[in-house]
Amino acid sequence: MEFNKARNIIGLRVLSDNVIWLWVKDKSVVVVDPSVHTPVIRYLDENNLHLKAILQTHHHSDHIGGTKSLIERWPNVKVIASSKEKKRIPFQNVSVEDGETLNILGEEVKIIEVLGHTSSHIAFFLNGKNPVLFIGDTLFSGGCGRIFEGTYQQMYSSLERIKSLPKKYSHILCT
Ligand SMILES: [Zn+2]
Repeated sequence: MEFNKARNIIGLRVLSDNVIWLWVKDKSVVVVDPSVHTPVIRYLDENNLHLKAILQTHHHSDHIGGTKSLIERWPNVKVIASSKEKKRIPFQNVSVEDGETLNILGEEVKIIEVLGHTSSHIAFFLNGKNPVLFIGDTLFSGGCGRIFEGTYQQMYSSLERIKSLPKKYSHILCT
């Protein structure tokens, strides 16, 4: 499933209703919320690609389930997750906070905390020419994600934050 040619972001459909997004640049790949590892490794092998970073929006197993095996295969991979989730995402090696900006594959990626689905859920906002928001389980095409740990007020504030992002951004990708 090719999604955005300009950005070269590819979606692998897995499990019953999850999507693993691969952001490909040159021969490098950033994977978002790998619930499983097999289809990711197969795709990267078939296309002769290297895994550089894993972005984790939150700790649920259908978002981090494949991460350990990907680390075994690519031991130098950066695993980027909320600093508040060191216990539940213990294999993170780049711990981030709300408002922080990272340089990934030579591009600016902003961390936006969007609470509600969990108590520390984050989104990754890939800025630049074709902005993309990796929103995890906060927002789906049919509505917001389920509120497991946060409050309704937190989820409302999170959706307000998403709305306040620059209007030019064109794509919101849930995982
Ligand atoms: Zn979840």
